[in-house]
Amino acid sequence: MPEDRPYDFRAVERTWQQRWEEKRIYVARDDDPRPKYYVLEMLPYPSGDLHVGHAKNYTLGDAIARMQRMRGYNVIHPMGWDAFGLPAENAAIQRGIDPETWTRSNIENMRRQIRLMGTSYDWTREFATCDPSYYRWNQWFFTRMFEKGLAYKREAPVNWCPVDRTVLANEQVENGKCWRCGADVERRNLAQWNFKITDYADRLLRDLDRLDGWPERIRTMQRNWIGRSEGVTFAFDVENVDAAIDVFTTRVDTVFGATFLAVAPEHPAVAKILERMPKSRRRVEEFAASLRGKGELERTQLMEKTGVPTGAYAINPLSRERVPIWVTNYVLAEYGTGAVMGVPAHDARDFAFAKKHALSIAQVITNADGSLRAPLADAYEDDGKLIASGEYTGMKSAPARRAIAARLEAMGRGKTTVNYRFRDWLVSRQRYWGTPIPIVSCENDGLVPVPDDQLPVLLPKGVAFTGQGSPLANDPAFVDTTCPRCGGPATRDPDTMDTFVDSSWYFVRYLDPHNAHLPFGRDVASRWMPVDQYIGGAEHAVMHLLYARFFYKFLVDEGWVEGDDEPFTRLFNQGTLLYGGEKMSKSRGNVVGIDETVEKHGVDAMRLFLLKAAPPEDALEWTDEGIVGRVRFVQRVWRAAEPLTRAARSVPLERLPEMRGERQRELVRALHVALDSGKSETETRRFHYNVTTAKLDELVNLLAAAAREPDAASDPAVLYVVHALPIVLAPFAPHLADELWAALGYERSVHLERWLEPDPAALATDEITLVVQVNGKVRARIAVAPGIGEDAAFALAMEHATVTAQIDGKQVRKRIFVPDKLLNIVAA
Ligand SMILES: [Zn+2]
Ligand SMILES: [Zn+2]
Repeated sequence: MPEDRPYDFRAVERTWQQRWEEKRIYVARDDDPRPKYYVLEMLPYPSGDLHVGHAKNYTLGDAIARMQRMRGYNVIHPMGWDAFGLPAENAAIQRGIDPETWTRSNIENMRRQIRLMGTSYDWTREFATCDPSYYRWNQWFFTRMFEKGLAYKREAPVNWCPVDRTVLANEQVENGKCWRCGADVERRNLAQWNFKITDYADRLLRDLDRLDGWPERIRTMQRNWIGRSEGVTFAFDVENVDAAIDVFTTRVDTVFGATFLAVAPEHPAVAKILERMPKSRRRVEEFAASLRGKGELERTQLMEKTGVPTGAYAINPLSRERVPIWVTNYVLAEYGTGAVMGVPAHDARDFAFAKKHALSIAQVITNADGSLRAPLADAYEDDGKLIASGEYTGMKSAPARRAIAARLEAMGRGKTTVNYRFRDWLVSRQRYWGTPIPIVSCENDGLVPVPDDQLPVLLPKGVAFTGQGSPLANDPAFVDTTCPRCGGPATRDPDTMDTFVDSSWYFVRYLDPHNAHLPFGRDVASRWMPVDQYIGGAEHAVMHLLYARFFYKFLVDEGWVEGDDEPFTRLFNQGTLLYGGEKMSKSRGNVVGIDETVEKHGVDAMRLFLLKAAPPEDALEWTDEGIVGRVRFVQRVWRAAEPLTRAARSVPLERLPEMRGERQRELVRALHVALDSGKSETETRRFHYNVTTAKLDELVNLLAAAAREPDAASDPAVLYVVHALPIVLAPFAPHLADELWAALGYERSVHLERWLEPDPAALATDEITLVVQVNGKVRARIAVAPGIGEDAAFALAMEHATVTAQIDGKQVRKRIFVPDKLLNIVAA
């Protein structure tokens, strides 16, 4: 008698991970004729140690990849490292560790841990963005953008993080604070490189409409961030000064109500005005000085709206009225035109400003019945009917906007314009651990890109990390160079690129990761793109996910990849993992490590817990009872199925087995319910594998009970379920599945098998309604088991009085039987 072999998950999991690797079963082939499926989790930053919160993300992606592989797709599922960034450099400053050494050792550890989770990545495609063979192409793209005018350098007030000592893009400032360290962001005037993402504003906005595989929340955040508004840009002349001030407004119907102009202190007209108004100079300059270093949020949201008069007046181009020009804190030079018309009666901010500075308030819009009249207690911001507006008086707001815009255009003083809230993407960073910007500055030639054949511009080694100033700027051996154009002395740009450049196209590099001549080949990239399913956190809504869309549109525009210019067809935002009610994170100190969890409970148990405890988009609480429950599940599967594997192989999976009774029917149905759930959760892209794994629990409970019956080893239904079990377990508990599959006698991995098609006959519920007719007339409806035979159905029908009453005394001549639907008894 064979002894009960306990399931040794540690040995089994190690063995299968090695075997999968040796047999390269997850390596995606470019020439595979099956339809492709590209599933991708956001490129991780190699921060060091992973915890089970990370495992939640990887497990979902892996279950999807495995499921799609079994459903007949040529799945590509790559992994790599977003390896540039500040933590490595901070480690260098604080602990004297070389950033590269720090990064590479973290990658080693994380790769080991990600493999430990039993993931099905194609590791032949792995790279780190700090590899010169990768960042060389960042520089190549930068150069192409420079040639197209999409990369440009300009001096402007920028966001400066005093802690990280670098500038930040607008997307990286959240509520006035640095996205990375939370420090209050300051303003500085610096010459910086930008990518002209605003050239793509219309497309980035419009194409959101067709990304119906994205969470609506993310699309809304991007729409709001881009912030499109239609309006009119028109000019006010300045009285006695040779200057005109452009303003943009979405409410040109209120133009007759303008009672002042608010301009940024940096507006070029201000300098001209001060030449004519020397008495105002001191007051304006003191005011401007008081704003220096104040961030955008502070100026526009937190500070009280305030300002000082310049002493000059502007002329309203339509009413010809004189309005005072004020320098204010809430108008920013780099936004729009740097000036706005103040309409206190119809704008709450202007109303507050006018009240504070005793400026006049002129109502020019009233409500529909005209009952709203000055004095107004508050700004009336709705559309309405124009009053006191010259020839436009009496018009409604919308037609008045069109008429006034046309008039300003005809006067040559204005035009209809579209404004966007978002700015160009500032990509210069004053830090070391990033991609060097491949531009040199020459006295004769200006800004000159490094020729392609001299790329990459390598990061120098052995740089001093003092924490003071930019390490590259402090390194003359790096900065001093010769001009590629004239051969004269030149200096390299000492900045590196925002690391979000690295993550803006990595998903295309995975498709051709070893290409030494191009970032990727067009054919191979076009075959695999776009990413069918992207998985990652919602925190990237207006950073990575916007930048990558812009970058990919550029790649498609240049013809380097063909097809749809949206890179991510579907996007799934994972919920976070909680522990003790709080998000699991190193900084909170509530971390459960991968190594200890795998060692103690096993990979499959961990994966099953992470998938089963909640829908993947929801937050999930890690509990010790939960994981222990999954350990028991794994053991229960093994105890029930393994002793029957030798007999089970002979029962074919191509057709339903003989079912000797209701218990067998129930068991087989539970299998097909689980198969059906896995299929539909994948097909609908809902990925609620919490439902599928709950179905597996029900299945295994029934199987465990059936396996205890004395005739289990000769019951075709039980053996059929044992035979199929590894297939339905495979995406969720991949090691256990392959171990059972091998016990069945298979040599090839279960992960290369096809998912079984759920059989409607097996799925049918307990009872169906059979219509009973006598001589073509309905006499009864009886509840029967699905698949009931004709004789059994007839016997049941004859138990019904309404049926026997009709037949009474007659002879049954014929029976017409439509299985599961109808029995017609012909009697005469
Ligand atoms: Zn910071
Ligand atoms: Zn030169």
